[in-house]
Amino acid sequence: MCSSDLVGGPPSDARRLFDGKSLDQWQGGEKWEIRDGHAIARETGITTKDSFGDCQLHLEWASPDKVEGDGQGRGNSGVYLMGRYEVQILDSFKNTTYFDGQAGSLYKQTPPMVNACRKPGEWQSYDILFTAPRMDPQGKVTTPAFVTVLHNGVVVQNHFELKGGTFYERPPAYDNPHPATGPIHIQFHGNPVKFRNIWIREMKPAPVTK
Ligand code: MG
Repeated sequence: MCSSDLVGGPPSDARRLFDGKSLDQWQGGEKWEIRDGHAIARETGITTKDSFGDCQLHLEWASPDKVEGDGQGRGNSGVYLMGRYEVQILDSFKNTTYFDGQAGSLYKQTPPMVNACRKPGEWQSYDILFTAPRMDPQGKVTTPAFVTVLHNGVVVQNHFELKGGTFYERPPAYDNPHPATGPIHIQFHGNPVKFRNIWIREMKPAPVTK
């Protein structure tokens, strides 16, 4: 079933967002360098042209093997659900930063339960289960968003209830109105973080037969 040495070869019903060859499904993808089956962050963040709600998202990333900077300046990127909710990507291997800014944190809301980071330059996986928030017609949140994250197969977030968008300069808050779906965004934070094998499955309730 798995096509790589990491957890998470694409299952048969997954939609591949990056197969190692093309970032055509991403706005800004033309700015990134594609080499040897992976993409390297350059110049700008990239954003899927399509939108998603409840989903399972898999991606693999590697922080630069040449270690430069420290804290939030080392191997920083991030993957955003619905363009709003950031699962932090950072080289957190022997790199101290604020607790809710580490790799696997939900940025500025909660740290990872454990630090599962591999060494700089080594491939790592994120498997993210995301439940989009629901709102009533007036825009009031009826069910918040929830996120589960496995980092290299280790649960680092377990059905965490998001308090809203993940901002660096202000407390989390939900947008009002809030769309039902949104794009996946990968951050460019000045560091040449690598990515490969990105796929998504839209989650729908199982059909019930009686
Ligand atoms: Mg980030």
